[in-house]
Amino acid sequence: MGDRTLSRHFTDLAAALSDFRASHGWGRAVALPQLGVPKRVIAFDLGDGPFFMVNPTISWISRAEFEVWDDCMCLPEIAVRVRRSRSLSISYLDSEMRHAQLDHVAEDLSELIQHEMDHLDGILLTDRMLPEWGVVARSARERATKVHLLRK
Ligand SMILES: [Zn+2]
Repeated sequence: MGDRTLSRHFTDLAAALSDFRASHGWGRAVALPQLGVPKRVIAFDLGDGPFFMVNPTISWISRAEFEVWDDCMCLPEIAVRVRRSRSLSISYLDSEMRHAQLDHVAEDLSELIQHEMDHLDGILLTDRMLPEWGVVARSARERATKVHLLRK
């Protein structure tokens, strides 16, 4: 990827994420394949502005898993219950093409990174859906949690 092309990708990703957050009020990351470009680039915005991962590789992933509601900018009306690893370490190139890594990230970032890495591999959240939950309207996911707990 040339520098000019990459910098255009960063601009497009940041704009897509910012537009989605403005219109929907949520959204922490977007992967370049979601914009129709099959390259391994992810933009994140965890509240402090965008940062980017180019060619990210998971170097370690925890065996311990947890269940979480997953949602996606591609399918903004739905939520599905998935199982994700509690933590991971990831290495990547940053927007300046410097090697960078995050080690033993917290659960909320771990599940987000796993979701975005799936996009790079053509896997959607529904492919990971725990079948006993099915597809839930995103607006109903908290209520769905309570129903599930009551059934136990
Ligand atoms: Zn997604």
